[in-house]
Amino acid sequence: METSLVLGLILLNIVLLTVLGFFGFLIFKMLRDKQQTQNLQQHSPYHPEIQKRLDEVTFTNPYKEDIFCPYHPQEPGEVQCGMCARFFCPKCVRPMKSIYFCKEHMALYLRSQWQEVLTLKTNSNDPEGGVRLYEQKQELFTTQQVPTYIETHYKIDVDGDYIETYLVLFAQEDQLTEVQKYFQEFIQH
Ligand SMILES: [Zn+2]
Ligand SMILES: [Zn+2]
Repeated sequence: METSLVLGLILLNIVLLTVLGFFGFLIFKMLRDKQQTQNLQQHSPYHPEIQKRLDEVTFTNPYKEDIFCPYHPQEPGEVQCGMCARFFCPKCVRPMKSIYFCKEHMALYLRSQWQEVLTLKTNSNDPEGGVRLYEQKQELFTTQQVPTYIETHYKIDVDGDYIETYLVLFAQEDQLTEVQKYFQEFIQH
């Protein structure tokens, strides 16, 4: 009789300790999470909403100098200009067909005559050509300040198993020959 009482007490102790340990762990975890959230907020000099947008921008755009809009140093640069490829806040860009232009290049777009330089057909199985075209376009702008832009047209293949993408490169009329030469490899392709 006495042995079972002792056994019962030991068992009760074990149960109590387990329950206490469990709650202790919960409280510890709660305090730790709170501390971490506070640390995060203290380390970022920006409003949590801005910080959230900044995190997204940093993820899609690894170039640090582009993280903020050139005209609004407190606003993350989220939209890329189709001409200069810099990133601006949504207030500083205007849409034109499938492209966004910054204020400066929207003005340039509107006051110039644009001519088609080439059309590059790519599809989801072979995206490299498109990537190279964008890189070369950017290089031309950075090294020679020659503005061009690329329109994107999509066409679903008849059999429906892939989407064809047509990238159409445009240049200013008076620079057409020069730009054509620069993109020779895409035209012969
Ligand atoms: Zn621009
Ligand atoms: Zn802006």
